[in-house]
Amino acid sequence: MTKALVTSEFLHTPHAFSTRQDGVSEGVYSSFNLGISTGDDRTKVEQNRQAFLDAFGLTKAQVCALEQVHGNRVVEAQPGWFDEDADASVSNQADLLLIIGTADCLPILFHDPVKAAIGAAHAGWRGSALGISQKVVEKMTELYGSSPKDIRVVIGPCIQGACYQVGEDVINEFRKAQFPEAVYQSDAEGKYRLDLVAANRWLLEAKGVKEIHSLEECTHCDQERYYSHRRDGLKRGSHWSAIMLKAQ
Ligand SMILES: [Zn+2]
Repeated sequence: MTKALVTSEFLHTPHAFSTRQDGVSEGVYSSFNLGISTGDDRTKVEQNRQAFLDAFGLTKAQVCALEQVHGNRVVEAQPGWFDEDADASVSNQADLLLIIGTADCLPILFHDPVKAAIGAAHAGWRGSALGISQKVVEKMTELYGSSPKDIRVVIGPCIQGACYQVGEDVINEFRKAQFPEAVYQSDAEGKYRLDLVAANRWLLEAKGVKEIHSLEECTHCDQERYYSHRRDGLKRGSHWSAIMLKAQ
């Protein structure tokens, strides 16, 4: 499992971002595919998922996996296997793994070591325009008394701004939500390059979060290590990102 998972020294609680390496899936899904919605052999995906959970020493019953819908709903995590429509969860329970699935979108992990609380969010352009990373901070404050300045955030492997071309319709949503113009740039093809890492950094800083770290790994550029929806379309695998608190 050494190549399969990436961690950040920035977060001091068990967490990981998966790569596509060291799994059992084949062909376009090769090899550590954790998603079942794009046509991979289900048995192989289940084997990969088991390996992912084994890395945390947890079972399926200790997981909160969401039915992600590109919205900005944040739920307090309960054990569940893709049955809740939401794009982020928060928790202060030990041994409950918060999971986010992505293949270009931003997986964002949150840890407040002072109040012992965590969060995990799926932020594509829709969720980002809807301010999902701010909603996570608000929920951690509301439920656990977290102070934004104590929350440490890591943005995992995702499509970086230089590779993410979008049209005017998408940029209009960011204009409406009053994002700074620095998060998008017009390109030579008459479209835009949208930097979702910068957009979420701006959202978080506006909430008072100071400790924000991006892995700066591009899923679109690094075909050897990552799946990319933009690059490969629907016939591709998915990554999982996850975070948990350990029992004291
Ligand atoms: Zn790239």
